[in-house]
Amino acid sequence: MTENEFSSIVKEYTDRYFLINGKRPGVFVRTFGCQQNEADSEILTGIAVELGYEKADSENGAELVIFNTCAVREHAELKALSITGQLKHLKNANPDMIIAVCGCMVAQEHRLNTIRQSYPYVDIIFGTASHSRLPEYLSGVIRDRERIFSPDDSYEIEEGLPVKRESDFKAWVSIMYGCDNFCTYCVVPYVRGRERSRRREDILSEVRTLVSEGVKEITLLGQNVNSYGKTLYDNYDFADLLTDICKIEGDYIIRFMTSHPKDATKKLVDVMAANSTNQSRPRIARSFHLPLQSGSDDILKKMNRHYSTENYLSFVSYLRDKIPDIAISTDIIVGFPTETEEDFEKTLEMLNKVRYDAFFSFIYSIRQGTPAAKMEQVPDKVKSERFSRMLDLQNSISLEKNALYVGNTERVLVEGISKTDSDMLTGRNEKNRLVHFKGKECLIGSFAYVKITRADTYCLTGELAKEET
Ligand code: SF4
Repeated sequence: MTENEFSSIVKEYTDRYFLINGKRPGVFVRTFGCQQNEADSEILTGIAVELGYEKADSENGAELVIFNTCAVREHAELKALSITGQLKHLKNANPDMIIAVCGCMVAQEHRLNTIRQSYPYVDIIFGTASHSRLPEYLSGVIRDRERIFSPDDSYEIEEGLPVKRESDFKAWVSIMYGCDNFCTYCVVPYVRGRERSRRREDILSEVRTLVSEGVKEITLLGQNVNSYGKTLYDNYDFADLLTDICKIEGDYIIRFMTSHPKDATKKLVDVMAANSTNQSRPRIARSFHLPLQSGSDDILKKMNRHYSTENYLSFVSYLRDKIPDIAISTDIIVGFPTETEEDFEKTLEMLNKVRYDAFFSFIYSIRQGTPAAKMEQVPDKVKSERFSRMLDLQNSISLEKNALYVGNTERVLVEGISKTDSDMLTGRNEKNRLVHFKGKECLIGSFAYVKITRADTYCLTGELAKEET
């Protein structure tokens, strides 16, 4: 059968549902994990909407539920399995409901088998790279009520798929997929395949469309954006791509993530500096996420990270030389196998030396099939104790750095109403700091200037100074 025939079967079903029920069947996609998964979920929702589904706010009452799962840490997998278990009673109440589980977790054979054997009410299981086949999978369930298991067998880049974005003013744009780095703790290369970059024409065209639709913040995504272009073989790299994107006229700001320190270049910093400093409306956000993972060179070697703390510090120094007020954030793994107290203290030293604006820290968890899983493990109690010491240190640094904003007027992209205080709006400044302030709801989706009056560890508070014209 052709793709069109699969789609027709699903559309007939959704049209029939509409005639009988007076409403379109709902689709709910729940996302676990990273921004790449969020971007993938927007594509899955987009495909379902094009097939005649309507976006639903929760699993309750949805006729199609898709769980897009994560495998980066064990905790994320256990959470996904537990919430999948809760779908059983919904399926019992509505046997026509279709349940799909996809993403990194089920791209691992052992997890796919777990879902296949222990969750018989899950109808479809597919991996990370075959979103375009969703109509085929759905038509199989609708027509034959068969269960479908489709591990990834190809990692082709799929262009032109429909997208239903969560936000009208913020957008993810994937510039590459997969990873070739094989850090010894990470499953990504096994579940998302080898590194492959999108063609620059496709990326530039997507960014142009987003800007013309009024999107204000575009985040370029990749497991390692700094190696963008390596699979295109024409010497066009990430810095070149940023340069071309910045030529697109409009009122928007560019962010990117994630950067591998071994591939971060001076050329990239120079392009950032040219498009972010001495400008009231910088094109590239003055913030850089640079995962350190560990401050011990021995541990970095065991992680297969291919940089030393010396290389890392030298890049940070170049970055701060060219963009003095840049905000730098990082990822740290605590308790990597064989990490000694001395190794850990070297990580604390790095936090003190770099003085990050923010960090994301994780307690190491074993990922089946990775080399680190076979190394000598650090006891859980030691890992937890180190984690809390590190958090205390970084919190004090973050608070100190946030205090420097008090008195400044910050340009903030207003994202919505604060989750903790419905009287306040919330947004992020260029440096990715969360800013709360009082203002009218009509400001959501636009830039505003906020005078900062108070600093806390994780956020800033201020007063609206002026709206951007
Ligand atoms: S760079 Fe390392 S940590 Fe990042 S996705 Fe690739 S293998 Fe995983």
